[in-house]
Order: sequence, then structure tokens, then C-alpha cells
Amino acid sequence: MSSNQKIVNAVAEYLDHISKVLPDDVVKALTRLRAEEKNKAALSVYDTMFRNMELAEELGKPLCQDTGIVQFKVVCGQDHPAIGEIGESLKEAVIKATKEAPLRPNCIETFDEINTGDNTGTGAPTIWWDIEPGRSDLEIYVYLAGGGCSLPGIAKVFMPGQGYEVIAPFAAERVTEMGLNACPPLFVGVGIGNSIETAAMNSKLALMRDIDSSNDNPNVAALEKELEEKLNYIGIGPQGLGGSSSVMGVNIVNTVRHPATLAVAVSFGCWCHRRGVISFDKDLNYSSKTHTKFAK
Ligand code: SF4
Repeated sequence: MSSNQKIVNAVAEYLDHISKVLPDDVVKALTRLRAEEKNKAALSVYDTMFRNMELAEELGKPLCQDTGIVQFKVVCGQDHPAIGEIGESLKEAVIKATKEAPLRPNCIETFDEINTGDNTGTGAPTIWWDIEPGRSDLEIYVYLAGGGCSLPGIAKVFMPGQGYEVIAPFAAERVTEMGLNACPPLFVGVGIGNSIETAAMNSKLALMRDIDSSNDNPNVAALEKELEEKLNYIGIGPQGLGGSSSVMGVNIVNTVRHPATLAVAVSFGCWCHRRGVISFDKDLNYSSKTHTKFAK
């Protein structure tokens, strides 16, 4: 089998899997929130979510009807033998998974208003690239971005004189304004940078990090905790019906700012946070550290 076909088959199989099975850290976070929940109505919503997860696996059906737009972040070692074929392989994998999983076709060509029918199209699937010198492995971060959750994020550039204190109210406002449409409990990704696009990208990368992880900078890690506590205090509860918590966690990814700018972006993952990473060695053996049930 050609290396192209190996990647196509593995990624299509992985897309199928993550549309039906949540990553280990999300299951762990939902289990913790359900154990801590005091509100009876909220407990019954959590029970429904866990039943939903069981049925998705048992029946081989997607966890949610909105299987999203497929987004990839490729971290490719410069010496990986398949480096030139990855982009085309990912596109073919999306077409294959759309047919076989199946995934709902969600790509509308803008202005033409035509659903392409296979989740590809102009600029789709989304692929962000990092080429890593001195490495020969390949990691593909996969995200099924739903129309109610991570796609309608928001970004704004503040004046640095307003201080880092602007981040918490900005995130809290967005959670109360947009969070209910995103099927809570939410996973909140906050991106900090110098411009709208760096902050927005950082907020997406924050959603690709494990829920249990912390930012390496202790000041930022403290802000992650503070935001989590403040957002939980609002008590949005599962599906927005009220409860002991609002979020599974808050991750922040930050890069430098310009002396005159402080850009902040917020993206949400929903309870059905379908993201994962599939890793290949140079011989294209693969595994997933986010989904232990995807054993090869
Ligand atoms: S927010 Fe998540 S669970 Fe709710 S409809 Fe969208 S993808 Fe499905």
C-alpha cells in the first residue's frame, strides 16, 4: 500500500472514531463534574450525556448530529518520508470518512451557497502546518469544529494600558453571551497575542491541549485557574439549565504582544469536545495518546 493510502485509511478511521468516542480527558472531566453536581436536573442531563456516549459506541453513530468542519494541525518532522503527500492524503481521508463514518456534510461554498457534499471545498479541510527540523515523526491534531461551539469564537485587540485584568471579564461576557448555544459544560480556550489572528489561532491551540494541562508560565497558569473558578461561579450547568459548574476547564495559550496591543480571543469546546491527536512514526505505524480506545 502506498504511504498516501496508509495515511488516508488511518486518518479516515480516526475521524470515524473521534466522531463517536470522546477523548479520555473529556470523559474524565465530565465524570468529575457529574460527581460534584448537586442539582437534580443537572444530574439528569449528565446521565443523558453518558447514555449518549454509550449509545454512540454501541450503535456506531456520531455523538452529535453536527459532526462539524474538519480542522487539522499538522506537526511534521522535516525528515518524515511522507511530507509531500500529507495535504492531499488529509483531503482524501475527509472524503472517505464523510462517506463511511458517516460525517454530516457541513461545507457550504460561500456566496455560491452550495453544500459540497463531502466536507471539502475551497480551503477545506482546514490545515495548519508546523514543520519541525530534526524530527522524522508526524503528529496530526484533529478537530471536529461544530457550528454552535468552537467555530463562533471571538477576538478583540485591547490597549495594553487596560492591563491583563481585561481578560477575565471579556471571557466571562463571551461565555454568558455565546456559551448557551455551545452545549455546556464548556471547555474554554483563551488565546493571547499581538493581533486578531495570532490570538484567534492561540485560542484554537488552547482547545487542542489536554483539559488537565496547565500553561508553563505560573502567572498564566494562575489565570487559568482563576478563570475556571469565576466561570464556574456563574453556574451555567450542563446544557445551560443551571448547576454547580459551567466549564470542564480553561486553557490559555499566549505568545508575544506588541507594546501597543493586547489581543485576546475566546473559543469554546462543548461537552462533546471531539478533538484528538494521531501520531505516526516514519514507517507510518500510528497510535493516539488522546484516545486509548483507538488501539492499533
Ligand atoms: S455545541 Fe457541540 S453538542 Fe451542541 S450541537 Fe454543537 S457540536 Fe453538538
